[in-house]
Amino acid sequence: MKQKALHTLLAMSMVAAGVFAPQAHASKEKPVIGFSIDDLRVERWTRDRDYFKAAAEAKGATVSVQSADANEQKQIQQIENLISRKVDVIVIVPFNAKTLTTVVAEAKKAGIRVISYDRLILNADVDAYISFDNEKVGEMQAKGVVDATGGKGNYFLLGGAPTDNNAKILRQGQMKILDPLVKSGAVKIVGQQWTDEWLASKAQSIIENALTANKNNIQGIVASNDGTAGGAVAALNGQKLAGKVAVSGQDADLAGVKRIKAGTQTMTVYKPIKTIATDAAELAVQFAKGETPKFTSKMNNGTKDVDTILLTPTLLTKQNVDLVVKDGFYTQAQVGN
Ligand code: BGC
Repeated sequence: MKQKALHTLLAMSMVAAGVFAPQAHASKEKPVIGFSIDDLRVERWTRDRDYFKAAAEAKGATVSVQSADANEQKQIQQIENLISRKVDVIVIVPFNAKTLTTVVAEAKKAGIRVISYDRLILNADVDAYISFDNEKVGEMQAKGVVDATGGKGNYFLLGGAPTDNNAKILRQGQMKILDPLVKSGAVKIVGQQWTDEWLASKAQSIIENALTANKNNIQGIVASNDGTAGGAVAALNGQKLAGKVAVSGQDADLAGVKRIKAGTQTMTVYKPIKTIATDAAELAVQFAKGETPKFTSKMNNGTKDVDTILLTPTLLTKQNVDLVVKDGFYTQAQVGN
């Protein structure tokens, strides 16, 4: 092989291997941002990635995206790799809220700002947190199920991943609405379970077992997102109960929106991903340029009161689900008529 071709090939493989890292704290005008995402196999995160990249690139930044595939060790290694490449800012959707203390400390020591995206990283010196108001999302989920069941009956609480701080905040919001009904005896919680990795298949088997244990006598399933709601509806389908039992969700996943239109899912929560992704990109670029961003609140993560931005979610039922088309989240062709 000719010398030049060999060089090119070598350079290409070094780039692929990540050896040719972006330059140390590249330049304030062209910052390099690392985006470490828990799991790109879940529909919503691919949208977060795309909107985030587009917004950051429009501001002159370069984004390096990593997906940890719901593996906490992999996520730590990927963040360590971003640190060694001396990116300016690292934005993280944590898989496990509680295992990033050390790697965040390493980033901070290297002068890299860290933003916790959508899910709060606990016990770590993060610089900012941006999310939707998850307690409000939980309230909306419970309210959706309560409204559809006349505020009475046997309910099952299908929680999110036990490693995700949002899953716990959602539950707090749900219980704000449900507690008075449980106390009055109108609602009975017949079971509750967290869903590892938010997996739809796990949600399905949890609900299959719950239906068997309760002889199908369940009127409401408070599911914490659309993925797990899909698993619940599949389990209900198996018993010819889909559409007869109220099921909540969140994310306005395309499949979730379709189930709402078909009447097998009661509600979802629309969280405009473009807004969180664009605002997060803006935050990251401001940090990289040494500017001071504006925050609207603070949330304690066990280490500090983290500067926080919480965005507003919207409850969608069959009545207003077409908002996702009006807002440009989907086309009419995608959701169907
Ligand atoms: C997010 C949800 C998402 C879930 C599963 C949560 O932390 O807030 O929007 O459905 O994770 O990925």
